[in-house]
Parts: sequence; structure tokens; C-alpha cells
Amino acid sequence: MYNEKAYAAASETSPLAPATIPRRDPTEHDVQIEILFCGICHSDVHQVRNEWRDIMPTVYPIVPGHEIVGRVTRVGSAVTKFKPGDLAAVGCLVDSDGTCPECKAGLEQFCPNLTLTFNSPDKYLGGVTYGGYSGSIVVKEHFVLRVPANLHPAGAAPLLCAGITTYSPMRHWGVTRDQKVGVVGLGGLGHMGVKFAHAFGAHVVVFTTSPGKKEDARRLGADEVVISRNTDEMQKHVGSFDFILDTVSAEHDVNAYINLLRRDGTITLVGVPPKPLGVLSFGLIAKRRTLTGSNIGGIAETQEMLDFCGTHDITADVEVIRIQQVNEAYERLLKSDVKYRFSIEMASLKSA
Ligand code: NAP
Ligand code: ZN
Repeated sequence: MYNEKAYAAASETSPLAPATIPRRDPTEHDVQIEILFCGICHSDVHQVRNEWRDIMPTVYPIVPGHEIVGRVTRVGSAVTKFKPGDLAAVGCLVDSDGTCPECKAGLEQFCPNLTLTFNSPDKYLGGVTYGGYSGSIVVKEHFVLRVPANLHPAGAAPLLCAGITTYSPMRHWGVTRDQKVGVVGLGGLGHMGVKFAHAFGAHVVVFTTSPGKKEDARRLGADEVVISRNTDEMQKHVGSFDFILDTVSAEHDVNAYINLLRRDGTITLVGVPPKPLGVLSFGLIAKRRTLTGSNIGGIAETQEMLDFCGTHDITADVEVIRIQQVNEAYERLLKSDVKYRFSIEMASLKSA
């Protein structure tokens, strides 16, 4: 075991502040990674503030961060895919049982015994796992991803959550060329959703509450942009979508989007607002529409997504910050004021 610098929150009302955390020495199957960049996901904010208390209560102190890209510093004797010096990445998962039907299907994100990158019971050290707002992390090889060399690490980090969370449902529900696809909310997830839907050849419509994001939405790959608070603009799209990805992090009217689906169309929720969404059954019944959800993606699909990004030169649009700016970044995220993901340069931790 060794000590590592990190940023942690001590309670749901505390700001993130410098802390020291334990990391295990790499076992034979482990990869030790010096963290270069860690993205800020809205899930970090939900959990630091204990907003999911009924389902996933936060254990304090919490060190968030599950969009990690770094450099391999040490590997265990049984590790075959990585060597010191390699660029490597870690997303939301660091372990699973490997034996259940979900794991056997390569869907580790649905394993009943999975270990999340932070705030999950730590099998090795006791307590809970600590995430990427830290100098290094030690992770089982199976959960470490390869990063294509042409992708800048700062922009690649958000692919590990925002990327896979939007790529996976579009692949699962078969988004293809010429389909009409909606993306609700142009934040970290939403802007990746636009990039992927565009890369898959779909006709992409962005729904935003922020008129100031209109031009960016088009630059990112949207064919049309709708200001969702304008009911006339919304009305024009009723009954026309094959697929809608809802990435909104706060309370909103999901029925307004269900009504935009054509017969047998699908809306997938990936956003996790702390309060329940009121769904009117009529909207689903009327056109046999489907309301579903999706949780990140499995390890094999995450690698597939990273390779797809390498081939198509896709990364997140990031604002690189120092760790000392993290609390200010959280406040801005809550105001939908980020273009379009904060990526923390972890070298800044050395001067913390
Ligand atoms: P984010 O960067 O804050 O983006 C959320 C976007 O939602 C905002 O940019 C804003 O877009 C829109 N929005 C915010 N408040 C709204 C409101 N009151 N009404 C309507 N629209 C609103 O967050 P993120 O990191 O993309 O995460 C989004 C959600 O996905 C979070 O709840 C997060 O926990 C969840 N998540 C889920 C998974 C999963 O596996 N399912 C994985 C990662 C994250 P506009 O300005 O364009 O309106
Ligand atoms: Zn996330």
C-alpha cells in the first residue's frame, strides 16, 4: 500500500479539498497508472452532493472521477496487454465477478457484483474505492483500456464515460444512416451523442434549453437545433423521431419528447435526475413507443468505442482546468456553463 494525493469531499456540503488516500501495490494482474487527465462527469456532482442517497448513498470522504487517461508506470507479472510508458484509460468500472451471465456476455456494467471506480466497496483495502481526482490508480488489467495514439489525452478522458454512455445505446438500438435522431441536452454526454449520431450518418436534432449553444450544436454535427422551451418549435417534430437520447441531469418533462417519437420509436434515458420523472402512459400507448434506459457500456464495447474514435478522430471538446478550480467547475456545470466537458490536468495536483 502507498499514499497518494487526491481531492476529496468530506461531506455532502463540503467543497472538494486536498486529501491523502491509500492505493494498493499492484498485484500480479494489476496495472498502475499515473493519471494525466480526468474528466468531470455530472455523476461526480450528483454523488459528491449525495443526490442519489436513496439508491447509492455516498460514503465520505469521496474521491470522484471515472474518466481517466494516464501513463502506465508499473504492471504485475501476469499482465500481458500493457507495459510501462503506455497510454491507458479507466472508466466507471474497475472490477466485476467475471462469472455471472452479464460478465460472460461482456456486459460487466450489469454485473450484480461490480466495483465502480469510486464509492464502491474496495475488496483489497476495505472502505470504498477512490476515483480519478488523484495522482495515480491501480486497476485490474481487464478493466484498463487502450487509447489510440492519435487522440489527445485531455479530450480522450471524457470518452470513458460520456463517450461510452452515448455510443452504447445508439449501437444497441441500431442508430443508422438516415434515421432521425434527437439528443436532449447539450452537455458532456449530449455533445458526444451528437458526434456519434452524426458519425453514424443519422439526421441529428439537438434539443437545448440554452440558445447560446445553437451554433456549437451545428458545428458538433447537428442538422437542426430546437430550443426546447419553445412549444411551437417542438410541435413541428411531433411523431417524427426514430430514436431520442435524453441526457438531462435535472427534472424535466420527458412526455414532451415521447410525443416526438414515430410509431415504434425509442427514447433512451441516460440522464439520472435525482427525482422521479412523471411519465404519461398515453404517449407510449398511442404509438407503441418504447421508453428505456442505458448504463455506460461493457469493457469490450468501451474499447470498440475508443477504437472508433481513433479511426474517426473523435474526442470530447474540453476546457482543461487545474484541480484547484474543481469547485468552481462544479458550480458552472450546474449552470450548464461548460463547453462541453471539464478535463482536469492532474499534474496540477503536485502543487496542491
Ligand atoms: P452536463 O454536462 O451537466 O449536461 C446536462 C445537460 O442537460 C446540460 O448541459 C443542459 O443542456 C441540460 N439541462 C440541465 N438542466 C436542465 C433542466 N433543468 N432542464 C432541461 N435541460 C437541462 O451533464 P452530463 O455529465 O452530460 O450528465 C448528464 C446526466 O447523465 C447526469 O444526470 C449524469 O449523472 C448522467 N450520467 C448517466 C450515465 C449512465 O450510464 N446512464 C453516465 C454518465 C452520466 P442544455 O444547456 O443544452 O439544455
Ligand atoms: Zn460519468
